Amino acid sequence: KGNVRFENVSFGYGPDRQILHNVSFRVPAGNKVAIVGPSGAGKSTIIKLLFRFYNADSGEIYIDEQPVSRSTQASLRQAIGIVPQDTVLFNDSIFENIRYGNPPASDEEVYQAIEHAHLSDFINALPQGKDTKVGERGLKLSGGEKQRVAIARTILKGAPILLFDEATSSLDSQSEHAILSAFREIAVGHTSIVIAHRLSTIVDADSIIVIQDGRVVEQGNHALLLANN
Ligand code: ADP
Ligand code: ADP
Repeated sequence: KGNVRFENVSFGYGPDRQILHNVSFRVPAGNKVAIVGPSGAGKSTIIKLLFRFYNADSGEIYIDEQPVSRSTQASLRQAIGIVPQDTVLFNDSIFENIRYGNPPASDEEVYQAIEHAHLSDFINALPQGKDTKVGERGLKLSGGEKQRVAIARTILKGAPILLFDEATSSLDSQSEHAILSAFREIAVGHTSIVIAHRLSTIVDADSIIVIQDGRVVEQGNHALLLANN
């Protein structure tokens, strides 16, 4: 689960603003892909077409061989988890924060997501309150820890595909670093598609898709791209 395929996808914001030109690429289930390219190249647009925020003008996108154009928003939300840049936690335990938005999840499933996100030490912690249950660390979660909560919440939904846009991140570099390493650890077993600008993310990817002027100009792993340039 989690195969993604773009097949000759073209798209424009209006008739005179064609942005994507015959974009084709494949992401096998479980792969980590970095989309890179200059600002304005069309990277975010690709992501938006995948979860059908916009419809492609021509071509087709497939998730596990199901055409996105014939999928419902609900089924796409099941398949794709968008990891937010910044997360607002409400003033209840981490457990409840992770369960939030996943009401049918059993306690056991929530515990599993917490363990998977390496948050077991924080399980009873309150993100803002004064009730200290986690010893000296207190309750102030770092940016990376908050992001783990967001990722755990997304993972609990069972989405096989995770999307993350690090290019628009407004976080300081230390928080972003923590978030990315959390993301990398936790995304294991999921297809992950990251709009990447950090070198470490790009080097780590199974495959890098280079977008220029709305076209895929190269796809391959890091070593292959270096060999070609
Ligand atoms: P990237 O993510 O690579 O920076 P985008 O996909 O955001 O690029 O944008 C590609 C092009 O589409 C840019 O020229 C941008 O100005 C334009 N664009 C993005 N969103 C819209 C929109 N909602 N309406 C019109 N043009 C847009
Ligand atoms: P770290 O993860 O160690 O904080 P990064 O791997 O993000 O650092 O980046 C290492 C250096 O490479 C930084 O100076 C950064 O500005 C630069 N860099 C990151 N992404 C790119 C890129 N796509 N192209 C060129 N330089 C980059």
